[in-house]
Amino acid sequence: MATVIALLVLCLPVVTLGYIGFCYASPWGTCRRCSTARKRRTCRACDGTGMRPRIGWQLYVYLRRLHRDGTR
Ligand SMILES: [Zn+2]
Repeated sequence: MATVIALLVLCLPVVTLGYIGFCYASPWGTCRRCSTARKRRTCRACDGTGMRPRIGWQLYVYLRRLHRDGTR
């Protein structure tokens, strides 16, 4: 059991760093609401573009803005 926990703890930063790199490489993902429904109607989630910023990217933009506003 301890080995499993140790493995999970080891994997967590790797997965996090991988996700950060993934978000940095392609910050825009496809809109799930549009891709499944395939409706041409204007989507409220993405404004009909079919592209949405990833949650990690949104977090990065939010933190960057917070840092910029805080250090001004
Ligand atoms: Zn959409």
